[in-house]
Amino acid sequence: MLRENIQKVEENIEAACKRAGRDRSEVTLIAVGKTKPVEMLQEVYDTGIREFGENKVQEMMDKYEVLPKDIHWHMIGHLQRNKVKYLMGKAALIHSVDSLRLAEEISAQSVKHAVTTDILIEVNIAGEESKFGTSKEEAIALVEDAAKLPNIHICGLMTIAPYVDDPEDNRKYFRGIRELSVDIKEKNIDNVDMRILSMGMSGDYEVAIEEGSTMVRVGTGIFGARNYNI
Ligand SMILES: *Cc1c(COP(=O)(O)O)cnc(C)c1O
Repeated sequence: MLRENIQKVEENIEAACKRAGRDRSEVTLIAVGKTKPVEMLQEVYDTGIREFGENKVQEMMDKYEVLPKDIHWHMIGHLQRNKVKYLMGKAALIHSVDSLRLAEEISAQSVKHAVTTDILIEVNIAGEESKFGTSKEEAIALVEDAAKLPNIHICGLMTIAPYVDDPEDNRKYFRGIRELSVDIKEKNIDNVDMRILSMGMSGDYEVAIEEGSTMVRVGTGIFGARNYNI
């Protein structure tokens, strides 16, 4: 079942790339296995996927321990500063940096562990109360300040678009993130590149790809619905 799901997602990604005149290699598929057992992640791994996303530090650590070591782990969930230390050298990319205080902690821990940590700045593009992320207005200042910190590298932006029935409703937000990344790129800030746009989930990744996404985070579309009550 998982194999078929992945194949379907893969076909959709390819079709979206084609519509947008983009090369398939520009888009990375991240399999979001949160709440799902390691057996299912192993099955996805066996199809060739090496990029996995988790939204909780403890869960990522538990899975990290038992799954193959060539997996690239993506921290995509809201991150508390006291948990940053556990991710050092383990998270390939932290997508959810939404404050200078968090960036400072990632920097300090990276120095301590003698690693460089790649991060994305999370932008709450629709200004939703319920979501984390810096506002569009504050994003540039955050990038400028975080760029000065040692041992972190800002690789781009991440956003979680609103939950909608019609993915077309999110097109404007994805476009807004892309425009923001161009604005930031034009500032030529040292230690900042905007090569990654992490946007698009199961409900809207095709539209996100059409608007320039380079990383889509797909959970339900690969693993099926999540049950939080178990
Ligand atoms: C859970 C989650 C996803 C995947 O969501 P689906 O709708 O199941 O594809 C993507 N990004 C983040 C930040 C998440 O927490």
